Parts: sequence; structure tokens; C-alpha cells
Amino acid sequence: MLQLVRPESAEAAAAALGNGTKALAGGTDLVPLLRDGIVHAETLVQVAPLLPRGIDGSRIGAGATLAELEVDPQIPDALREACRLAASPQLRNMGSIGGNLLQSTRCWYWRLKYPCRLHGGDRCHAAEGEHREHAIFANDFCASAHPSDVAAALLALDARVRTSRRELGIADLYRLADEGDRATTTLEPDELILEIELPPVEASVYLKAMDRKRWSFPQVGVAAARTSTGTRIALAGVAPIPWLLAGPGDLDRATPLPRTAWKVEVARALVGRALAQIS
Ligand SMILES: Cc1cc2nc3c(=O)[nH]c(=O)nc-3n(C[C@H](O)[C@H](O)[C@H](O)COP(=O)(O)OP(=O)(O)OC[C@H]3O[C@@H](n4cnc5c(N)ncnc54)[C@H](O)[C@@H]3O)c2cc1C
Ligand code: SF4
Repeated sequence: MLQLVRPESAEAAAAALGNGTKALAGGTDLVPLLRDGIVHAETLVQVAPLLPRGIDGSRIGAGATLAELEVDPQIPDALREACRLAASPQLRNMGSIGGNLLQSTRCWYWRLKYPCRLHGGDRCHAAEGEHREHAIFANDFCASAHPSDVAAALLALDARVRTSRRELGIADLYRLADEGDRATTTLEPDELILEIELPPVEASVYLKAMDRKRWSFPQVGVAAARTSTGTRIALAGVAPIPWLLAGPGDLDRATPLPRTAWKVEVARALVGRALAQIS
């Protein structure tokens, strides 16, 4: 029987994690995965009331919801827009930014429990099968496309993440799965994301191609941010993790699967528009 524990502090919550327990924030990603038997846990640790909330200057509490962020004038445009364009109003009211960064892949084979590489198997069913929505970069081991608009915006904004153990750049939160380790984040099982810190930015934008106008994961999401030291471009929906481009020309290095070449052209168009908007 699944247990729910409600610790008194974030420290106590982190201490209760690991060994078959999982952090529960808004539950919008985790609860369906538990229900469908894709993720297993003996105990859920309710962290939503314990996580820092709200926005304090350049710091965002990991418990802040996407709905709070999309309307806050302190939040840079790229992140506000990434939140506004994500999911549905109901989900944005429940879903936290910390949980968004850690959401699982939407690869339909993975969600249908095919014994694919990300589930520990030895095949990528998407590469061999239906993969229209899949990755155009780093897709040789697992071709899933990272679904977080928010993570791409934070990567372009060069955000830093503070956890219960350390501080790290947002890029270092993610890793590509490989034969030896199928994890796609570097977070330890007993590590909590507490805060996100944003460096100053002069202008930023997030553009998103979707298969319908609302309530749709990014087919391709493009975030661009201009600072005093240069411009950063990051993409959602194009690689198993949020993907940083060295520049627009980097798209020439994409390795699309037979039915994902269209994403390269969509990315090219959105990157051009995003750079024009922040120039
Ligand atoms: C139908 C649907 C459509 C969606 N569309 C989009 C979209 O278009 N774009 C987009 O970006 N997202 C989209 N999402 C994802 C949605 O934004 C996330 O599900 C939500 O933000 C997750 O936050 P949560 O608080 O509900 O996380 P939970 O479901 O509670 O947790 C998700 C994972 O993160 C872990 N976790 C949560 N908080 C912490 C923490 N602070 N520290 C450590 N671990 C933590 C949990 O253990 C779990 O593994 C969609 C989701 C759904 C269901
Ligand atoms: S893309 Fe990744 S998650 Fe999807 S079937 Fe291939 S290995 Fe599994």
C-alpha cells in the first residue's frame, strides 16, 4: 500500500527520500505515472508545502507554480512565455517549476511500457518505429524529445539550481542516458530542488511550435536570451535533454531520424525569429 508522509521541513523531506520514496509536488506528472505502474514507490513525501515558493528578485522557489510565474513581471519574458504556453491552466495551477524540470519523457513507447532502452532494455522502439515527434540531436541511444518548455527557457537564461545538496548550472541537471546509466538527470534519489536563480538578462523570448494552439507539448521550442556577454539559444523537443545551440549554424549538425527532418526546418525558422525579436 502506498504511504504518504508529510515532513515538517524541507530538510526532513530530503532525509525521507530515497529507498523507494518519491517527492510529490503538484503530482501532475508523478501521479499518472504511479497509477499506470510506470514509476514505482512505496512512500510519497509531500514536498509542496515545504518548498520555497514565489519570486524574490532573481530567485524562484522550486514550489512556485507555472501559473504564478507566467504573470509575474519580475520573470524574464522567455520564462514567462514558456510557462504560459505549457500544458493547460489547470495543470499550470498545480504544476511546480521544480517538478516541471524533472518531468518524464512523453515518448509513447516509454509511456506504454515497451521494454525500451530508457526502461533498461536494449532497443529504442521509437528509432525503429513511429518517431515523428522525436529528437533531432543526440538520438542514437534514446531518441526521446525533452518535453519541458521551462527547462529550455532556463537553459537560455543560464539559470542555476540550488538543491538540498549543492548548486549547479541548469545544464548540469541533465545527462544523456547511456548503456551504463539510464537516468536523464543527475539528481540523487534523496536530493530536492529548492530554488532557481536567474542572472541578469537584457532581452529574452520563447517561441513554440505545437500541433494545436493550446495544451500541447513542444514539437520545437526555442528560447533565446541576450545578456551583456552575448546571446544564448536553447531548444525544447529536439533532444532527450534540453539542448543548447552554439548558434543558428549548429542546426546543420542535427542528425534527424527518417521522420523528424521537419523539426530541423521548424527550429531554423523559430531560431531566426527569436534572434530577430531580441536583437
Ligand atoms: C497533459 C499535460 C500536458 C503538459 N504540457 C506541458 C507543456 O506543454 N510544456 C511543459 O513544459 N510541461 C508540460 N507538462 C508538464 C507539467 O508542466 C508538469 O507535469 C508539472 O510542471 C510538474 O510539476 P509537479 O509539481 O506536478 O510535479 P510532480 O508530478 O509532483 O513531480 C514530477 C517529478 O519531479 C519530482 N519532484 C517534484 N518536485 C521536486 C523537487 N522540488 N525536488 C526534487 N524532485 C521533485 C517528483 O518526485 C517527480 O519525479 C504537461 C503535463 C501534462 C500532464
Ligand atoms: S526514444 Fe527513448 S524512451 Fe522512447 S522508445 Fe526509444 S529508448 Fe525508449
